[in-house]
Amino acid sequence: MIIETTRKGLLKTLKQKQDTGPKLGFVPTMGALHKGHFSLIKAATTDCDLVVVSIFINPTQFDNPADLEKYPNNVKKDIDALQHQFNNLIVFTPSPNEIYDGRLEAKHYDFEGLDRKMEGAFRDGHFDGVGTILEKLFTLIKPQKAYFGEKDYQQLQIVKKLVRILDLPIEIVGCPINREETGLARSSRNKRLNTQEKEKALLLYKSLLQAKQEFGTKNAADIIEEVEAAFKKEVDFKLDYFSIADAETLEPVKTIDNNRKYRAFVAAFLGDVRLIDNIALN
Ligand code: AMP
Repeated sequence: MIIETTRKGLLKTLKQKQDTGPKLGFVPTMGALHKGHFSLIKAATTDCDLVVVSIFINPTQFDNPADLEKYPNNVKKDIDALQHQFNNLIVFTPSPNEIYDGRLEAKHYDFEGLDRKMEGAFRDGHFDGVGTILEKLFTLIKPQKAYFGEKDYQQLQIVKKLVRILDLPIEIVGCPINREETGLARSSRNKRLNTQEKEKALLLYKSLLQAKQEFGTKNAADIIEEVEAAFKKEVDFKLDYFSIADAETLEPVKTIDNNRKYRAFVAAFLGDVRLIDNIALN
């Protein structure tokens, strides 16, 4: 495994390794790695000859300074875990200054409204920050394929739009949500939950399962109302949104078209930890 911390170093290593023209895969992460991340890296190493994993907590995608400050950060532990499980990775762990040259600013993108729904409505400027860091990393690394989790389903749709807007020849691969045995979606932020809170956090997954069961028999507004009521009963939770939407446009469903795919999406604070999850409904 090769670890690079500078753009120059990374480019040099890529140039050496790519002399024989291997297929290059890329998995961007913010570290605090868990089995969800490893499932993406596994998919990438299965598909590609060479894989770059970036570990970078991107400041411009955080609208809330406290969330950024408390974001779990242990690069040494992440590197040990990668070393145990994978060979032949290039791990890129730059500093914010290395990436942003002292100007911590996000570019503005026109994601045609995809960025204004759900996460975008609750996290001001979040997707501009995501677009900015990914444009920088995509144009630096120039992978043929990049891997993203359906855990951040809205982000996955936005990344697909980003490569179309920038006209980059990168195939965006979506990977299924990796869950704990209980059903809780794995997340770096789960590290901030104790055992009891992790049990409480299951309300997100349970609400998604309920929506899946009721979808098609009850109308979406009634399902959403039931879920909102369930969250209201729990004093430790603050629900940001529960949405039932078209899987491609992310538009809230009005009438069900059997030719379209739909998903349910949830975001809620448990104490001061913000959790998100989603599920395919049909
Ligand atoms: P993050 O480090 O949270 O920015 O996540 C990096 C990548 O891992 C993103 O593409 C996420 O969607 C993906 N990811 C995070 N958690 C999971 C999970 N539980 N299952 C699948 N992919 C995940």
